[in-house]
Amino acid sequence: MKALIPFVVLLACGVFSVSAEAANFRTVVIDAGHGGHDSGGQWGKVYEKHLALDTAVRLESKLKRMGYQTVMTRRSDYFISLPQRVSFSNRYSNAIFVSIHYNYTWKPNVSGLETFYYSEEGKRLAQHVHSSLIKRTRTVDRCAKYARYYVIRNSTLPAILVEGGFVSNEPERNRMKAAWFRDTIADGIVDGIQRYRSGH
Ligand SMILES: [Zn+2]
Repeated sequence: MKALIPFVVLLACGVFSVSAEAANFRTVVIDAGHGGHDSGGQWGKVYEKHLALDTAVRLESKLKRMGYQTVMTRRSDYFISLPQRVSFSNRYSNAIFVSIHYNYTWKPNVSGLETFYYSEEGKRLAQHVHSSLIKRTRTVDRCAKYARYYVIRNSTLPAILVEGGFVSNEPERNRMKAAWFRDTIADGIVDGIQRYRSGH
């Protein structure tokens, strides 16, 4: 997904007051961005669609080990439209929706991690997941923020979209090519989901 670069670079993400309220759900719908002819962000042979799927599979196995039910919108390299992703995931109740992407922009020095939400409940989930991701990765914090991306705007579930770093930024690209980094992203998302569920 292409990042919108604001004219003003925000140095702080603002203070969130996350309510200590437990969330009750059993299922995590995991959405690996792009796929098939839609490669997403790309630099040389590094494709966003592959990075997103690998991270999604890692997240799936970690969540399963912890007793969550999981479903994936795609499990291999094929195209699935945004409406298909939404109608598939909206069949689930008692669930949350996590879309995984890596970022791209024509400015090669732009870096960092950002998490998007649309609904109020999505915001709470995004704040937990985002702060856990920043803690795990110790990367540039581009904040948890509101956006009208199709999959989160049309989801009936608490929904977030994670951008795990910039394919267009060399140091971040080199990190995300390494399995340990994608594993760290998956761990950060798991931490955040756990904190969202427990309300702490
Ligand atoms: Zn994307």
